[in-house]
Amino acid sequence: MQKPKRTGINGAVKLIRIVSVLAMLGVAGGAGVYAGSANETSKAAKVLLAVFAHPDDETVCAGVLARAVANGWEVRVIFATAGDAGADVSGRNLKGAALGKEREREGASALAALGVKRPPSFLGFGDGTVARSRTQVKERLIKELGGLKPDVILTFGPDGFTGHADHIAVGKATDDAAKEAAPASAVYHAVLGRQLEGWAAVAGVAVPKGTKLPENLVTVDVKQFEAERLGSLDCHKTQWTPEVQARLRDFRRAYSFEEFVWSGGGLGAPGKWVGP
Ligand SMILES: [Zn+2]
Repeated sequence: MQKPKRTGINGAVKLIRIVSVLAMLGVAGGAGVYAGSANETSKAAKVLLAVFAHPDDETVCAGVLARAVANGWEVRVIFATAGDAGADVSGRNLKGAALGKEREREGASALAALGVKRPPSFLGFGDGTVARSRTQVKERLIKELGGLKPDVILTFGPDGFTGHADHIAVGKATDDAAKEAAPASAVYHAVLGRQLEGWAAVAGVAVPKGTKLPENLVTVDVKQFEAERLGSLDCHKTQWTPEVQARLRDFRRAYSFEEFVWSGGGLGAPGKWVGP
């Protein structure tokens, strides 16, 4: 989800940044939870594309990915990097390309745990370089979008979920690529709305008083996919120590929904979910 040195329980500074962004977003959103049924079938296979920076970022929408599979959607995931920078907390102390290779494997396992048939695609940008390569990332995404024509695209918003520069940049590149090459795709940003308090507990910090929910928040019920969500978390052994993993598991169990804000395109609209 983020580079270990800036991550999880050490991410107080970034969390404050997230909180500030949320606070700036103002008024409380009041959208209901999209319950739906895991067995709803679409007429033709709709396509859901998730675009993130690092293997493990998919955990921000793991439940929706599992829900998409259950609803008969075709699910594709693109990671801009292999997550080759940073540390390996698994005890093997992998670094650089070796770490990237292992994280690619972890990302593929995590998607398989969610029921996603296709392994993820990796654009091959260096971990930590997405912001300075944003134009090239956008160009690569334009090519991918032209072929895929996704109905829905999930990515990060301007807060990057954790404030990570790669997250913010990949979200912006995705927004821009979609505007240019896939205006029929509804783009949603994964955000922390009602989950923020729980996330703050994972990070070991308090949510500042007066923090408001993002405007036009869309909440998607993923209760039925708890096993898949937890199973996918277990795949990222290089990234989370057992202690952090336990906190993340508690967090996932406590929140049986995932939250998004429509960013533009397709059949979406403020507060309206057109995803699986
Ligand atoms: Zn990340």
